[in-house]
Amino acid sequence: MIDLFEQYKEFGISPKVYKYCENVLGGLKDRFEAIDSMAEFNQLKVLKAMQEAKVSVECFNKSTGYGYGDVGRDTLEEVYKNVFKGEDALVRPQITCGTHALALALMSNLRPGDELLSPVGKPYDTLEEVIGIRESKGSLAEYNISYRQVDLIDNKKFDYEGIEAAINDKTKLVTIQRSRGYDTRPSFGVDEIGELISFIKKLKPDVIIMVDNCYGEFVEEKEPLEVGADMIVGSLIKNPGGGLAPIGGYIVGKKECIENASYRLTSPGLGKEVGASLDVISSMYQGLFMAPTVTASALKGAIFAANVYEGLGFSAFPRGKDKRHDIIQAIELREEKALIEFCKGIQYAAPVDSYVTPEPWDMPGYDSKVIMAAGAFISGSSIELSADGPLKEPYNVYFQGGLTWPHVRFGIINSLQKLYDAKLVIDSML
Ligand SMILES: *Cc1c(COP(=O)(O)O)cnc(C)c1O
Repeated sequence: MIDLFEQYKEFGISPKVYKYCENVLGGLKDRFEAIDSMAEFNQLKVLKAMQEAKVSVECFNKSTGYGYGDVGRDTLEEVYKNVFKGEDALVRPQITCGTHALALALMSNLRPGDELLSPVGKPYDTLEEVIGIRESKGSLAEYNISYRQVDLIDNKKFDYEGIEAAINDKTKLVTIQRSRGYDTRPSFGVDEIGELISFIKKLKPDVIIMVDNCYGEFVEEKEPLEVGADMIVGSLIKNPGGGLAPIGGYIVGKKECIENASYRLTSPGLGKEVGASLDVISSMYQGLFMAPTVTASALKGAIFAANVYEGLGFSAFPRGKDKRHDIIQAIELREEKALIEFCKGIQYAAPVDSYVTPEPWDMPGYDSKVIMAAGAFISGSSIELSADGPLKEPYNVYFQGGLTWPHVRFGIINSLQKLYDAKLVIDSML
């Protein structure tokens, strides 16, 4: 037997902390097996998609300039279309991030006079400016596109009556966010989203349903297009980039939705025909190929973290035993010092920038200081091990990512070690 603790000692992990975490891990065997099966299922799904699109070495050649006839780009879009079961796809390095992809999908499929509806409460923070909930240059509101929102009942259930009342003649597009984002509401399962979609489509069959798929890819067997969504949108520096894609976003769905998005991304008349894939295309393929197992590592980390901290009396969202629909884990640390020490533990566990100490700072758009820990190969990548949280009650830390399970496991143990060293967790708790 290999003595793993020999290695942990090198990082200053104490026997007590290590043992406690080993015990927690012992109780997670069945969960982890199920995650491994899911990864296999999705690995084969991706493989099939690549084979059917006839991916070849020519696809990895870089293109420049206009990018006319860029085979690598067109084939990658075919692969995404196959994986996510759409009619067409737009997958580009020119889509700069998740927010950009979502803004693109909305702005290209809505016209002045239309209304956008969110039936699942407030969308992700950055979308507030896209929509114009917070006044912003270039928002949908500036183009006379109105917005309506129906909040969840008790912050968890769909308010079907409220949704029925909110849908009107102007309702053109419905946006459903799969992941909790940085909120404490639960994330939605794909089947749950399917029920909501059926309900809405019965009331208004021609409405476009968009799902913000960020952080949800490859967590389940199905993806939202398989339960009736018209368009799914996400970021390549989260799950589907597998930690390798250096930039990019995707939209997959109905032909017409993708066409609209392509004419908005480039120009009317040009659409998907232009847009060189430069020299980043091969990592987009390779990242997608890795994505199911990378997502599984992150998922194991989230479940491990929830169980480690729940066992010490902290609250976790989702709870340790809950079914998962995304890779984000929130833990309520209750005091400022605990939040800071947790983030130090994650930072000091990184392969990059492990020697720097994260400091709380006044981040634009936030009403309190924020602390962030990330030592990533790809700047800002949140499929890599990372943690952050606003310095305010109840001192929630949001934890996500981890390219390999051994690394994410170490990161969590290291976070606990930091709390232990600061005497915020004591022997009698372990
Ligand atoms: C990350 C995220 C976004 C925005 O993506 P960025 O790449 O940070 O712009 C939007 N929605 C959800 C649910 C997300 O998790």
